Amino acid sequence: MKFMNMKRQACPRCGYQMDTAECFLEPKADPKPGDISICMNCGDLLKFLFDLSFAVPTSDEEVNIYLTATPKQLKLLRVTQAFIKKRGRIKKNDNLL
Ligand SMILES: [Zn+2]
Repeated sequence: MKFMNMKRQACPRCGYQMDTAECFLEPKADPKPGDISICMNCGDLLKFLFDLSFAVPTSDEEVNIYLTATPKQLKLLRVTQAFIKKRGRIKKNDNLL
């Protein structure tokens, strides 16, 4: 899995600070504007904006994500979100000490 270093930024949903991203489906790909992400703290969907900052998808965008995702993408999304929900929130930003 390839990690891409990014400008440090907070999840717009939970405030968790992040500075890396990775692509689950294409291990060698870097995220690009318009791609969808999952916050590893809260598990909610995020989207990459033109400058690779995060935004919360609109409700229409979220519906479109679920309608256009492949079965493999939907399964990965559900498994990842279930893992994050079971694990709970990360206590602190161990990745940014
Ligand atoms: Zn979050």
